[in-house]
Amino acid sequence: MKIPKFFIPAVVLALFLAGCSSDTSRKGEPMKKDFFAMDTYNTVTIYDDVPESVLDVAEKRMEELESLWSVTDKDSEVYAVNHANGEPVTISEETAELIQFSLDMAEKTEGALDISLYPVLTAWGFTTGKTQIPSEETLAEKMELTGLEKIFLSEDSLSMQPDMQIDLGAVAKGYACDLLAQQLKGDGVTSAILSLGGSVCAIGSKPDGNDFKISVQNPEYGDSLGLLSISDSCVVTSGAYERYFEGENGKRYGHILSPSTGRPAESGLVSVTVVGKEGKLCDALSTAFFVMGLSATEEYFRTYGGIDFLLITEDGEIYLSDGLKDKFTLSETYKNLPLYVMK
Ligand code: ADP
Ligand code: MG
Repeated sequence: MKIPKFFIPAVVLALFLAGCSSDTSRKGEPMKKDFFAMDTYNTVTIYDDVPESVLDVAEKRMEELESLWSVTDKDSEVYAVNHANGEPVTISEETAELIQFSLDMAEKTEGALDISLYPVLTAWGFTTGKTQIPSEETLAEKMELTGLEKIFLSEDSLSMQPDMQIDLGAVAKGYACDLLAQQLKGDGVTSAILSLGGSVCAIGSKPDGNDFKISVQNPEYGDSLGLLSISDSCVVTSGAYERYFEGENGKRYGHILSPSTGRPAESGLVSVTVVGKEGKLCDALSTAFFVMGLSATEEYFRTYGGIDFLLITEDGEIYLSDGLKDKFTLSETYKNLPLYVMK
């Protein structure tokens, strides 16, 4: 079923925090900090009566994680691994955990999530901003440098074949959400929203006990496609509408690659939102589902469950997993879009 082109929704998450009410000491005003890290805009909003320094601690933690996982920072662990020429590199617990998790998820998604694609991403110029369509020859050459079977992870050390390069961009922000949430809870926070780029995690619910409302938006027009009600969970969106370039023919090339071709994924989905308890799982799956497309996502869901999702196809159809049926409401403008529920 087709919808008019301007209705084709690409999704960004925006928070409807204005309506959140009643923190006692600050007279309903939450405290909030915006900062740039991991190549994206981040916001931490806390509704509890805790010292403001808690916000700074969260920002610091995010910077710490960035300094472990940045592909470009010469002091990061990922940089060290990528320039080790086949030698083993000692890595932190957090990095080891995230890499092991990514390798496990690669298996579960039948290779759709692949942290070894960095040489191919570079060939497309997504890493430098100087985007281009690589020649067949270059692509084949770069694809030779990928492959998770050539990554060897032991408890605190990682080695891989020379010239390989990993990139944790598909999972880092989700895991950062989990680690920041853990930190904040330790500092007494019971009601907060972490928004790290496309990864949003809610700690608890709004101070009045109601769910937080997360808007799934059409970024081209800034209007809301609908609202997701969540508490104590994470919402992560992946799509190719934010970071892409246009070829001469007007074709769009997005930054999520299909590991089997080395080309931007074209699975028929324009946006994937995953909802679940763990940010890292939501982040891994939002990227993987974007590569896998509708029917492989459904198959994953039937096999493993454990998460919910909202998929938007190129044709403007919306697919919801059963668990979101009563948690997602289309906005007035989009109320006639076809919406299908998957059980
Ligand atoms: P974003 O970083 O925009 O929130 P994602 O979580 O979907 O979006 O991650 C996309 C990033 O992951 C890309 O910019 C790239 O660094 C990396 N990447 C691209 N394709 C894949 C893939 N198939 N598997 C794992 N990582 C990927
Ligand atoms: Mg992701």
